[in-house]
Amino acid sequence: GLSEKLQGVFKKLKGKGILTEADINDAMREVKLALLEADVNFKVVKQFVDSVKEKALGQDVLASLTPAQQVVKIVNDELVSLMGGTNSKLTYSPRGFTVILMAGLQGTGKTTTCGKLANYLKKNGKKPMLAACDIYRPAAIDQLEIVGKNVDVPVFTMRDCKEPELIAEKAMKEAELKGYDVLILDTAGRLQIDEDLMNELVRIKQRTKPHEILLVVDAMTGQDAVNAATGFNEKLGIDGIIMTKLDGDTRGGAALSAKSVTGKPIKFIGVGEKFDALEPFHPERMASRILGMGDMMTLIEKAQESYDEEKAAELEKKMKKNEFTLEDFLDQIGQIKKMGGLAKILDMMPGMNNKAMKDVDLDSGEKEFVQMEAIIQSMTKAERKDPSILNASRRKRIAAGSGQPVSKINNLIKKYEEARKMMKQFTNAPKFKKNKMFRG
Ligand code: GDP
Ligand code: MG
Repeated sequence: GLSEKLQGVFKKLKGKGILTEADINDAMREVKLALLEADVNFKVVKQFVDSVKEKALGQDVLASLTPAQQVVKIVNDELVSLMGGTNSKLTYSPRGFTVILMAGLQGTGKTTTCGKLANYLKKNGKKPMLAACDIYRPAAIDQLEIVGKNVDVPVFTMRDCKEPELIAEKAMKEAELKGYDVLILDTAGRLQIDEDLMNELVRIKQRTKPHEILLVVDAMTGQDAVNAATGFNEKLGIDGIIMTKLDGDTRGGAALSAKSVTGKPIKFIGVGEKFDALEPFHPERMASRILGMGDMMTLIEKAQESYDEEKAAELEKKMKKNEFTLEDFLDQIGQIKKMGGLAKILDMMPGMNNKAMKDVDLDSGEKEFVQMEAIIQSMTKAERKDPSILNASRRKRIAAGSGQPVSKINNLIKKYEEARKMMKQFTNAPKFKKNKMFRG
């Protein structure tokens, strides 16, 4: 699926360390294919990839993130904005009585979603009522009544009436009279958009003046779902989309492009057949679901927040002059600690949580950090600046001073040497000197 493909791309990038423009181009070619395969609209894909590329190539170095992490972050942010940025909420009538018109093609999940939405509203303190405006099959009315029973919400019906707009109007009166505050209108669908269906919906719209016209589309139908949304929006005017069947083996492309193609946000997603399987749509959550990044984004944001810019600049200068001292090392560990500890950071990163990474764990807890601090504080200024002078007798003295065994001192020096080596490699890379992540 899309997730696996994108994760594969990022894994390759991670293995590279510093990235060239060619690396980015290769990665973006793969991202493009993955999106097209997931049935995302071609124009949307092109725009998306171009925009990610541009941002990736122009990005400044953030000392707290690796280049691969930064690419992941850019892709994530672009996905989020593609899907509308933030969660779009339902509009309720200021007057206190809200009408929601549900529309959509046959089989997309309208009737089921009416029940799910009623259930959701009830949980959020509303008093919803349902109305059966699908007059073409008696079974449709029966179905809505069963749905209503399931979620314990009353269903308004007029079995002999052949005018859906009249049913809707009567339902409004009844619901208001009985003290309900949201009326959800279930309507008929067709296999395809046609004049009759649109005229019927327009009549219901004119008669009830709904505060929300929600279009139900089936994610499994990919770009057809997006095309249907465009059609309904042009002919009826919609306020938002509910995308159903995102639980199955769907390719997910429709969720990505719906907003940018139709201009209307996805407000909810259906993730199963049960009545609690409806979720408000959050672009950020969807993006991390697609990227399979778990809490990765939270982590990256945390890293950005807690990494002191000034300190980063200072450290960079020192690294260039090869003056990375034990005190800087301690500082660096302090930064990691601020982010919640290296172990936690590694845990949050899928694919990074392996044994080899665990072995370089610099901070397995508060305690170890405190111990390291104590050890470094027991050193003289000269020793902190140039740990190479730390012979056996000096190490013994520090051990005694810090209350730690000599093995801990040796261990600390080893880790410091490793970190210094790593930093040296980093500073020797030409791209870093240009203070750009990638060769432009
Ligand atoms: P309508 O013709 O638009 O009213 O569609 P229905 O509400 O009758 O639903 C058609 C089918 O889709 C039913 O079998 C539903 O159980 C199923 N369905 C609806 N929403 C979802 C969903 O989010 N996930 C899955 N897996 N099935 C759904
Ligand atoms: Mg139905």
